[in-house]
Amino acid sequence: MKKYQSVVVGGGPAGITAALYLLRGGLNIAWVEKLAPGGQVLLTETIDNYPGFPQGVKGFELIDRFAAHLEEFNYDKYMDEVQNIQIGEREHRIKLSEDWMQADTAIICTGASWKKLGIPGENRLNGRGVSYCALCDGNFFRDQEIACIGGGDTALEESLYLAKLVKKIYLIHRREAFRASKIYQDKVIANPKIEIIYNTIPKEFVGEQDLESLTLVNLKTNKTFSLKVSGAFVFIGLKPENLFLPEEIKTDEYGFIITDIEMRTNIKGIFAAGDIRSKVCRQICTAVGDGATAAQNAQIYLEQIS
Ligand code: NAP
Repeated sequence: MKKYQSVVVGGGPAGITAALYLLRGGLNIAWVEKLAPGGQVLLTETIDNYPGFPQGVKGFELIDRFAAHLEEFNYDKYMDEVQNIQIGEREHRIKLSEDWMQADTAIICTGASWKKLGIPGENRLNGRGVSYCALCDGNFFRDQEIACIGGGDTALEESLYLAKLVKKIYLIHRREAFRASKIYQDKVIANPKIEIIYNTIPKEFVGEQDLESLTLVNLKTNKTFSLKVSGAFVFIGLKPENLFLPEEIKTDEYGFIITDIEMRTNIKGIFAAGDIRSKVCRQICTAVGDGATAAQNAQIYLEQIS
């Protein structure tokens, strides 16, 4: 079994940054990523809130630049999926599809993914009007008419944020009552820019190059109708990539890993960084910060146990 000082799991901004900091510290590491590096960023057409790119940058270009930073270093890279982590007293064992490896520290950066509606046009128009992140993409729709979908805290909170930027929001919810906290409900109902459409589900995102309209069905009348919108934000929940996590690692009620501000989990030697953490602000900037913090604290921990 191969032994490492640290294993970084996940190849998004948090994982790449953690690997970079560990390698610059001269550590013997392995980096595991199931597909190509990038994570959710690869699904993002244009990023316009990452410092240093005032004109915006394509998701894949930013990731290419991140990954290029690792090229000068020697490390073991596995294109594989972690199946399990066995917690040890001092060393932990990490199971890939076939092989096991052993590490003093592991930094879990497996991220999370936005739940999708799974309707026609959603994938094709993702980044061309269809979005899952108000903070990332809200600015593209200044003074335009958009739709938000969902009835939880995220949908209502983000609609209130977007209402400050856009001309009008149609808030589409599949039931007659929101599940969101009353405080958000009161604010949304009172906001003159938000028109609530209850008992309705999206059927199709329509547009040639960019989103032009949203086809909806009223579940009470069964009637199909269309709304002319240039943006549609899907806020129907976020899924942590946590299937391999052992139960010893503490998560919140939604499955996101709980850490302290130094990215330490409840298990010695196990750190978490980026969107997989239980936190509010999930951005590339915050993932990068988490990755650097986790790597720095992993090195401090390694010195302590050596
Ligand atoms: P959520 O609470 O699971 O709500 C998801 C919403 O999307 C629900 O209204 C659900 O409708 C709807 N939905 C799900 N699948 C759908 C589909 N296929 N088509 C149409 N609608 C669909 O998710 P969330 O809003 O992201 O919140 C997750 C957790 O984080 C919650 O516990 C929330 O309280 C918390 N949170 C807290 C804050 C805060 O306190 N500031 C902010 C954001 C999130 P139904 O209601 O009919 O099921």
